[in-house]
Amino acid sequence: MHAVGIVAAAGSGLRLGADLPKALVPLAGRPLVCWAVDALRAGGVAEVVVTVPPAERAAFAAALPDVRLADGGPSRTASVRAGLAAATAAADVVLVHDAARPLTPPDVVRRVLAALAAGHRAVVPVLPVVDTTVVVDAAGVVADALPRATLRRVQTPQGFDRRTLEAAYAALDADADLTDDAAVVRASGVPVITVDGDERAAKVTVPHDLATAELQVCR
Ligand code: C5P
Repeated sequence: MHAVGIVAAAGSGLRLGADLPKALVPLAGRPLVCWAVDALRAGGVAEVVVTVPPAERAAFAAALPDVRLADGGPSRTASVRAGLAAATAAADVVLVHDAARPLTPPDVVRRVLAALAAGHRAVVPVLPVVDTTVVVDAAGVVADALPRATLRRVQTPQGFDRRTLEAAYAALDADADLTDDAAVVRASGVPVITVDGDERAAKVTVPHDLATAELQVCR
């Protein structure tokens, strides 16, 4: 099974408040995107494509001299679409990962690959929801409470049979903007199965997340 990894790294990282793209923000001295690429490789992904902000291509090339880069788009969906187009046709399966999840343990990658090897066409790592989770209306008033036991938080890398993912993207509106790739595949009617995620695969979004990741590395 030949696996190609697509690392979505073309976001701006406004919520992190950094003056450079989030994927280039250092964690223990190395850009987040380098950690994310390493996690995929350590878990058994043979080939990696990283989607980058076009204006920052030179900086990404300096950080990732041995990795194929593709220009990302205005949304995550557009960026992954571009990465998929740049992936080799030799790939049987594709793992799509966020650069913003630098400390993803290789075991999560292995679990996703194992489920694909077992014949599943779409696989996501998930974690339980520990907080009570509610729906609020425009005024901030709680309108509904969701049954927590059936809810899951979805992480990356998300794994797909390559042809299934390509067909799902081909069927999607050109300007569609979904928050993950499982949503793209589900929109095409393919069932998505789950494997265990890991708290260490948390997404770095706000400064507190980066501080937490630094503690994890330095422990
Ligand atoms: O914004 P969010 O944290 O959900 O982004 C998840 C991942 O998608 C990040 O790693 C980010 O770099 C990537 N992204 C992208 N292209 C965009 C927006 C986000 O590759 N236009």
